[in-house]
This record gives sequence, structure tokens and C-alpha cells, in this order.
Amino acid sequence: MAFPRRLKAPPPPPKEETKSVGRFRSARLARLRQAGSLAGLKPGRYIKVGTYFVRLLGMSVIDEVLQANEIYSRTHELRRLTPRPERKLAVLTCMDTRLSIRTLGLKTGDAHIIRNAGGIVTDDSLRSLLVSHYLLGTEEFMVINHTDCGLMHTTEQDLRTRIQNRAGVAAVAPAFFYAFANIEENVRHQLQKLRTHPWVPKEIAVRGFVYDVSSGLLREITA
Ligand code: ZN
Repeated sequence: MAFPRRLKAPPPPPKEETKSVGRFRSARLARLRQAGSLAGLKPGRYIKVGTYFVRLLGMSVIDEVLQANEIYSRTHELRRLTPRPERKLAVLTCMDTRLSIRTLGLKTGDAHIIRNAGGIVTDDSLRSLLVSHYLLGTEEFMVINHTDCGLMHTTEQDLRTRIQNRAGVAAVAPAFFYAFANIEENVRHQLQKLRTHPWVPKEIAVRGFVYDVSSGLLREITA
């Protein structure tokens, strides 16, 4: 997209011009602002468009994602995938950025990846695992917690107090954050919740692991 070159400290626009620009609140203005951000111009800088000055807004990460998505959609190479995991595996793990399907040697389409803070069997992750098995045919459940997790070295009370202080207001939900101190114990606890659940069939392999974020290795936790 053609884009005007960086201007040298343009004067702030006179009031009438700002008003006129206001009427351009349209896709065209959004595109200009986006182009400005892509060209590396600082948010808040004015660019001249025709007779108008347009103030560049910061491009949020979500805007960047939307742009990337548009580019992805041109090829959409995952179009052929079905909703059923090809390798009949469901993984419950933490939302931590250092865990990914790459660390498990999986490809998109191979497995269900169910994530929450900690990799905890909650009502909701259990719901996902049940849907995964009963509706979409997975036959193995893998629970992965990891070293250096944000939920370690803290307590329920500490988390609640910290968040309440930041937000400035109390709240009843969530009832639990599932903070934990001992990672092996925490994995065992998740396995126990799954293995004792009447809707998790005995034929399902339920296994638990600790992922070491420094070595990149999974270590199995046995009962
Ligand atoms: Zn974590």
C-alpha cells in the first residue's frame, strides 16, 4: 500500500481539520492508520492525507492478528482438517507460552489441546475432555503441568488478595485459582480426579507428566 513518507514534526492540525478528519471514521482511515503503524511511525504522529492530517493510532496486537489472519486465509492450508483429532489424543496442560504442540511433536489436527492456568482438571476442562472422548473419539488423556508455573509459589489467599488489591473490589468468582506448591503432587491430584470420575472410561489411558521448561523434557508422574 502506498504510504506517505514520514513527515517532519507536522504541526498539530487546526480544529476545523480535526473535525473534517472525524468524518473519515471509515475503513479507509483505519487502513491509513494501520499502514502508518506498519511503516513504523509512532502512534500519536500526524500524517498528511490530501489536505487533512490524520493522527496515527497504536496498532493493537489484536489488529496485527487480524492482519495475519487475512494473509493466512489466502492459502488456508488447514482447510482439510476434520474436528476429530487424527491421533486420538487429548492433552490437558497449562496456558504457559513455553508449552506448545511443537514440544510434543504434534501437528495441528493431531490432538485436542485443552489449556487453562496450571493444567488443572476443573469442571470446565473435564467437560472438554468428556466432549473430546465421547463426541470426537479421543482415547488417551495426557495431563501436563510444568516447572516454573505461575501458580506455584503462591497461595489461594495471596492470589485473591493481590488481584483484589489491584482491581480495588472483591469478587466471589472464581472460587479457586488452584494454586499449588508441589508439582508432582499436583499432577497426581489431577490424575486422581480423572481416574475416579464415573464418566472417564477405564479403557482411556490417563497419564500425567511434568514438563521441565529448562530441559524441554517431559517426565512421567506415576502413582
Ligand atoms: Zn503454568
